[in-house]
Amino acid sequence: MTMIKSIESNKKMEFDWIRKANFASWWVTWEDLEWPDYAVEKKWENRAKIFSKAGINAVVIFGFHFRWDYLPVLDRVLEILARITEICHVNGLRVVEHHSATFVHRVRNVKDRWEIRIRNRHHVPFYPDNSQELSFNGSKLVDWRQISSKDNKPVYHEGWNNECFCPNNPNYQKAYLAFIERHVEKIKYDALMSDDLQFLPDIYTCGCAHCREKFYNATKMELPDPSEKDFWENPANTYRQQWIDLRYQWTAEHYQRLRKFLPENIALWGCASNCTGANLTGMGVSPQHYVRNWDAISHEIYHSLDPVKDKVEVRAGLSAFASIARQHNVPLIAIFYVQRPEDINLWIKLLEQNDARPWLCKQVRIEDAVPEEELLLNGAFFAKKRVFPGKYAAVTIRFSQKYRDSLPEHLAEKYVQRYMQECNSMIDKNYMVDVVFDGYRST
Ligand SMILES: [Zn+2]
Repeated sequence: MTMIKSIESNKKMEFDWIRKANFASWWVTWEDLEWPDYAVEKKWENRAKIFSKAGINAVVIFGFHFRWDYLPVLDRVLEILARITEICHVNGLRVVEHHSATFVHRVRNVKDRWEIRIRNRHHVPFYPDNSQELSFNGSKLVDWRQISSKDNKPVYHEGWNNECFCPNNPNYQKAYLAFIERHVEKIKYDALMSDDLQFLPDIYTCGCAHCREKFYNATKMELPDPSEKDFWENPANTYRQQWIDLRYQWTAEHYQRLRKFLPENIALWGCASNCTGANLTGMGVSPQHYVRNWDAISHEIYHSLDPVKDKVEVRAGLSAFASIARQHNVPLIAIFYVQRPEDINLWIKLLEQNDARPWLCKQVRIEDAVPEEELLLNGAFFAKKRVFPGKYAAVTIRFSQKYRDSLPEHLAEKYVQRYMQECNSMIDKNYMVDVVFDGYRST
């Protein structure tokens, strides 16, 4: 047991505003595509004023999410976001640009259109008919897609009715930076949240020529045929473990390239709903790897989680993300979804215990969710004087990603469950939990 005093700063504090930020989601909708339009401008101005009055001082763009799908109308979208950013800045609100860097919707039939409507309406799913023909920066988007090693075909992910670009494809890499350059030229945003760096749907992805070459260069072994179960289905296989480790590195390298490319005054982060889960192995997602090039840690508290009923999962997640933030001296931002104004304070209390900056969002799983303007209308929830956490007695819990990844799935699940239970039993005894991950020091 150790006392956590103050964490020594080994990183220059460049984005102090994030540590004082109270975020709210700023939804762009189909209606906003009508801009230039007086009524739309009026709506934006009213919203900015309501947010500002309620103590919000930063907004995160939501909507137009699968941004590559907007290529046919990209200039229009950029002009819209530029005007929103101007209005926000006039009202004292910082702006975080937020989109998926790799996902594109693809529809095969009417059922897919309905699936997208039911599950992803809030993203404003604008998917063009001519997706097969689209190109950017001199290369075709269809050539950037992730490939499954199972059948050597592009992956179609049923979960979001999408395809996904491979972060190892050099044409994709160049195109994304050029895409970001177009954004930065037009929009004076303060931070970029570049999402969805992952391999879908499982560890058989990605088997494109670039991933195969990189795997060979690292191991001097060809990526095995899908019939070689000792590689693909045996977690104890050391080559498989290397493959898993490389996939974390490859998704993390996206942020390394982006951080180098972005102007220094624009902060960078991505999104992560989990940093311990057994499902992260297949996706190649590791916020622990990403944080080296993130200026803040962003934790999405999944919209179905309730702060009381699901407290074991919520507190274990917050403790893990808060630990990463402390250890890397970056602020933690946590998004929570609410439908009633009275639920806001419940979340704020939990977040304050973890020194997390709040990001308020409407409850996206409800069809006619109460919008942020309405949630904030009668209460200056974020304008109150805050009581920051002082010194806590802390206990250290070790969590090994490498160990989790070396286990069969059901045992990996058990390992994660054990972490969550241990973490909660310590919090119940009023300790702060400091989670130490592979290769990271606690302070
Ligand atoms: Zn690939």
